Amino acid sequence: MSNDIFVLIEHRDGKVSENAYELLGKARSLAAAAGGSVTALVLGQGVGNMASSLGAANKVLAVEGDSVAQFTPTGYVNALTPIVETGNPLLTLVPNTAVGIDVAAGLSAALKLPLASYAIGIEIADGLPSIVCQTLGGKINTEVGFTVGRGIVAVNGGAFAADDGRIEGQPLVETLSASGDAAGVVFKRFIEPESGDVDITKEDILISVGRGIEEKDNIELAEELAEAMGGAVCASRPVVDAGWLPKSRQVGKSGQTVKPKLYVAVGISGAPEHLEGMRDAELVIAINSDASAPIFGAAHYGVVGDLFDILPALTEKIGEAG
Ligand SMILES: Cc1cc2nc3c(=O)[nH]c(=O)nc-3n(C[C@H](O)[C@H](O)[C@H](O)COP(=O)(O)OP(=O)(O)OC[C@H]3O[C@@H](n4cnc5c(N)ncnc54)[C@H](O)[C@@H]3O)c2cc1C
Repeated sequence: MSNDIFVLIEHRDGKVSENAYELLGKARSLAAAAGGSVTALVLGQGVGNMASSLGAANKVLAVEGDSVAQFTPTGYVNALTPIVETGNPLLTLVPNTAVGIDVAAGLSAALKLPLASYAIGIEIADGLPSIVCQTLGGKINTEVGFTVGRGIVAVNGGAFAADDGRIEGQPLVETLSASGDAAGVVFKRFIEPESGDVDITKEDILISVGRGIEEKDNIELAEELAEAMGGAVCASRPVVDAGWLPKSRQVGKSGQTVKPKLYVAVGISGAPEHLEGMRDAELVIAINSDASAPIFGAAHYGVVGDLFDILPALTEKIGEAG
């Protein structure tokens, strides 16, 4: 049994993901409070090379092998189970992403360790972890602890500052061969987003359309405004489900998480599943004909009105301003 904090590092194309820095930064303060150290778990091939960008960790465990060369839930869980069992850390932090949530659930079942997911806060008090989790898509939060005093936590993106974990350094690197196999799952290929499509997670200005846009042809109104402002168009789920925009443009729980400087929500009601993907935008402007729409609760500025009047008028004004 140790007071260490383990962190699962997500990475793609040899680059550490932003969420890994968020987890590492928090892990440092938790380890300091618990009197333990931070171990970064990196699975893949040649992953020890990433150690220099994981200076926030005291130690990097590079777990290499065919079964973890690409992510599969079973490959990762089978490789991580003996490592977490032997290290017996106070907490194993994983990102609450498509990868992390599978690993968290699998590890929890394999090791009979409790799991807290959708975490947005973690503290150690008297040596025991206390975790704040989002419930019902963020409508209410819960504070939980672990009866066995230790467990696994799946942490929401954006819950902690990435800058606290973005430390260059030379942590101790230990390389291990991945144990187990992928239990019958074979990675075949990545399916990239349609070529030429924009990456909405990297845009500073997003004009986001919801069901209020009514039909595919009307999306042109949002595209004109986006062009005038130098931004891109994204959408709520019903617009994507209807096939009016590609999946890569969906914002929310089952889509992308975006943090633009400006997010204009047009004809979007503001369901918790949508807010989950855009609540960290620096400035939110909502345009909705229903003054009681929940999106106004998440917006810095709101316009109650008909989007079919407001969008063309805005585009014209911005065009005039040059
Ligand atoms: C597991 C799960 C995952 C989900 N994931 C996502 C997700 O990733 N992203 C997501 O967005 N949703 C997601 N949802 C769906 C979510 O619950 C909502 O159903 C969805 O966000 C609603 O989209 P909307 O706001 O565009 O549509 P609606 O809720 O129908 O809202 C349309 C809005 O347009 C306004 N409006 C209508 N006409 C006009 C007009 N002329 N001018 C101005 N305003 C107008 C209306 O007042 C209304 O507020 C998920 C749901 C589940 C259960």
